[in-house]
Formats: sequence, structure tokens, C-alpha cells
Amino acid sequence: MAFNWLKKEKETTQRASFEAKASPSSGDASGNSGIFSKLKQGLSKTRKILTTDIDELFTVRKRLDDSVLEELEERLITADIGVQTTITLIERISKKAAHISDAGELKSFLKEQIRELLIPREQPEKPASGKPLVIMVIGVNGVGKTTTIGKIAAKMRADNKKVIIGAADTFRAAAIEQLTIWAEKAGAEIVKHKDNADPAAVAFDTVEAAVAREADVVLIDTAGRLHTKINLMEELKKIKRTIAKKIPEGPHEILLVLDATTGQNALSQAQMFNDALGVTGIALTKLDGTAKGGIVISICHTLNIPLQYIGVGEKVDDLQLFDPNLFLEALV
Ligand code: GDP
Ligand code: MG
Repeated sequence: MAFNWLKKEKETTQRASFEAKASPSSGDASGNSGIFSKLKQGLSKTRKILTTDIDELFTVRKRLDDSVLEELEERLITADIGVQTTITLIERISKKAAHISDAGELKSFLKEQIRELLIPREQPEKPASGKPLVIMVIGVNGVGKTTTIGKIAAKMRADNKKVIIGAADTFRAAAIEQLTIWAEKAGAEIVKHKDNADPAAVAFDTVEAAVAREADVVLIDTAGRLHTKINLMEELKKIKRTIAKKIPEGPHEILLVLDATTGQNALSQAQMFNDALGVTGIALTKLDGTAKGGIVISICHTLNIPLQYIGVGEKVDDLQLFDPNLFLEALV
């Protein structure tokens, strides 16, 4: 399995999280406990609902009646859990209402329901990944594509993978420069043309170089300017087709980057890119810069696309594989 390194990292992360808990001083700001505390920050609003808000509601009402449910519904929506996911949660609570008599019971039931929404559903069988593994990274401008590519490249390099990055966002020279800096930092190779070159040609050359140099992983950066939405989708489709000319089963992954600070907007972006290109995984960035961490719950619940990575900062270490258990730990 080409994604064995992912599993390995997941185990390491989980272990680190337990170690951090076992001895609170064992982490440093850039380590896993740093990521954990940033994640906690991003979830402050949702956590407040699961803790003090529910206590408050019960102090006033003393029992779980419709007005408590209505109030809870409103608060879940403002924490960016989203209307559809909130309705699902509230429905489950009302069905169980007769058995919930205090704040503690409501909290633990809600937590259990959130856990269920976070656990990935069965995914369609993935085609066997080839070598090199080709990951095409897409998303609108500014969501963090280039940064996420840099972070993923660094992770893979740390795992001794040979990584080649393709600068297929050729719209601005600055974009190519930014990617070059990330590639250098990560110790990855980069294939780039001049600005305004054909992005599909860059992708093709990158994949060709990767095959020739026996690289393990190819990461293709792409443009995200949305004012030309149809053109953007056509450009991305062309990149995808062009990669397949060199490696028929590629790209093996189409990773969509979403910005958590855009809240529910992220969901409509996901729909749009998925319809046009078929997205195989999501990286959710900027969970540090927002109280809208509840979006994670609605992404897991409403999209049938696995949430693979979460980004919690601008530094190279600020990317983590999404781990539902760790997320719940940060939430409550
Ligand atoms: P692109 O246009 O999609 O390639 O986005 P960039 O990678 O250029 O990122 C846009 C901005 O978001 C940059 O200033 C990044 O440093 C910042 N950024 C990316 N990921 C994160 C994250 O997880 N947290 C924070 N706080 N900032 C991020
Ligand atoms: Mg970029």
C-alpha cells in the first residue's frame, strides 16, 4: 500500500499525543502538543457548547425540553457545524430525549453522536497506487495549497521518500517562487516553467521527470483563481488528463484544500470541485486561525470524501493527519 507511510505517521502522532498527556511538559511549541493546543484553540467555540453552554441551558430549564433543543440548535449552527449536520444531531437528541435528564447525560450523548459523524464511512476501493504516487492539489486562491504541498513534501522527505513538485500554478511568477522556497525547505525537487506557461505541460514534465528519476511521490500545485470558474475547471481537467497520458492510473490522489475560516463556504467549494474533478481527499487548513472548527464535523458528515489532513499554522510542522480521536480529545 502506497499509503503505509501515512499509517505509520498516524501511529506516531497518536503515541505522541498520549505521551504529551502523560507528561504535560514533554512537548515543545513546534511539536505535537503545540499542534494539539492550536487545535484546541480552533475548537473553542464548539467546546464551549459541549461544556458550559449545556450547563447553562440546564440551569435555566432543569430538563431537556423543546426550548433547550432550540437553543442548542442555534448554538451549534453558530459554531459552524452547519445546518444539515446540526439538524441530524438535534434529531438524534430528540429521539433520545426521554432518557436524558441532566447536562452531563446530554454532553456525553452529544459527544458520542459527534464521534459517530467523524468516523470515516466505507470508502470506495482505491485503485492500487503506482509509483510514483501522483497527488494533484487543487482549491481556490489563498486556501493554502502551496503551503500544504510544502508541508506534505517535508513529511514525505522525513520518511525518506523522493519527492518532486510540479509548479503548475503558472499564473503568477510569485507563486512559482513561493513553491520553490517550500521545495528547498523540504528537500524536494521542483519542475517549473516560466510564468504563464501551459500548466498541463508543467504537470506532464513533472511526471515524466519523476518516472525518469524514480521518484516516490509527485505533488502538483495548481492555480485557484475563481473569477474564471469554468476556465479553472477546464484547466484542472486538462492537467488531470495530461498526467494520465504519462501514468494511466494517475493522478492517484486529487487533494482538495479547504480553508476552515471560510466556514460553510468550504462545503460548496468541495461540491463544485468534486463535481468537476472527483476529489479523493481533503486537507482543511487554518484551523488555528478560526473558532469555526465545527466545520470539521460537517465536512466529515456531509461530504463522502475523507478528511486526510488538517493544517494548524503556517510552519512546516503545522500539518497533521486527521485523527478523529485526537480531534474529539481536543473538543472535550
Ligand atoms: P494557495 O493560494 O492556495 O496556494 O495558498 P498559500 O499556500 O499561498 O497560502 C495562503 C496563506 O495562507 C499564506 O499566507 C499561508 O501562510 C497561509 N496558510 C496556509 N495554511 C495555513 C494554516 O494552516 N494556518 C494558517 N494560520 N495559515 C495558513
Ligand atoms: Mg499557491
